[in-house]
Amino acid sequence: KRIYFQAGPTTLPKEVMQQAKEEWDDFLGTGLNIMEHSHRGSEYEGIHNQAKTRMKRLLDIPDTHEVLFLQGGASLQFAMIPMNLIQSGKTAKYILTGSWSEKAYKEAQKIGSCEAVVTGKDSEYRALPEMNYVSSENDAYLHITSNNTIYGTQWPDLHAFKHPNLVADMSSDIMSRPLSIKDYGLIYAGAQKNLGPSGVTAVIIRKDLLQENKSVPSILSYCVHAKNNSLYNTPPVYSIYLLNLVLGWIEKSGGVVEMEKRNHNKAQVIYDAIDQSNGFYNGYATPESRSNMNITFTLESDALEKQFIKESEENGIYGLKGHRSVGGFRASIYNAVPQESCDSLAQFMKHFQEKYGK
Ligand code: PLP
Repeated sequence: KRIYFQAGPTTLPKEVMQQAKEEWDDFLGTGLNIMEHSHRGSEYEGIHNQAKTRMKRLLDIPDTHEVLFLQGGASLQFAMIPMNLIQSGKTAKYILTGSWSEKAYKEAQKIGSCEAVVTGKDSEYRALPEMNYVSSENDAYLHITSNNTIYGTQWPDLHAFKHPNLVADMSSDIMSRPLSIKDYGLIYAGAQKNLGPSGVTAVIIRKDLLQENKSVPSILSYCVHAKNNSLYNTPPVYSIYLLNLVLGWIEKSGGVVEMEKRNHNKAQVIYDAIDQSNGFYNGYATPESRSNMNITFTLESDALEKQFIKESEENGIYGLKGHRSVGGFRASIYNAVPQESCDSLAQFMKHFQEKYGK
């Protein structure tokens, strides 16, 4: 049996796939797949609204905030956020902690006034920078990336960011831990790590930010999507259907508190294998900045790294190759990855070290 640690496009719980299979050609006794039902009909609307309610319940989202299901991935949010939220005379502030926040910042530069106020680039994004930014009245918002998928760093304490309009890209760690939603102006996440398949992006936005702006095209306007309950145009029906099943699975499993506990324990066994290796494995991220979602590490030579990939695959372990900009290895352990997979990887790492270590 193979086990996988790839960073994407998604990792789905087995129970979710089983239910999707059972309902494939007969959703609720209708003889149709959910994709074939009208997105204005009661069958689909039931799914759509249940997914929204589950998001609200799982993350304890207060009535001050709206949940939207959009398309275009997190990358479209890089553009929609500045288009909708930079008012004239205001500047958007960005904290750079990796390639994704750099991309978000670059996109905002094309759209309005913005500035990078803190950066971790000096450490090659191995460490999260010191958070010494104090908000100013002229800020449109402050943008952060909560988990840096490529480098394997994750802000441990999101309370450190005190900003009236905090905007967070949580694409790779949403639903992995509890959040205090009232601290955010906007949270967005491409669904494909912890929420379901690609094709749908979840946005949680404080309602006072839903301002109508005539210069923003309708399809790119948060206000238009909110007014239409995310049904302004045809939604990605099957992606939202699967997202709803994943949210149901998280609820049944004990919610985000349980997810946090599981993710911590899963990450711990792999970090232990790194830390107890006397330098045979080198963690890419500094220990204080480590992510519980993406674990990055290297070996001392290319030859040894090639051998590691070869032997891991011989042992049924796949998807460990690091992102091309960092090299080495990355074990992505999203919510749906079970503890046993992480135990197997840690065990394999120990055996590999016994074989090749000095
Ligand atoms: N932001 C983060 C933190 C990501 O990990 C990714 C993709 O891995 C993206 C943004 C880009 O997401 P998308 O492919 O949905 O545009």
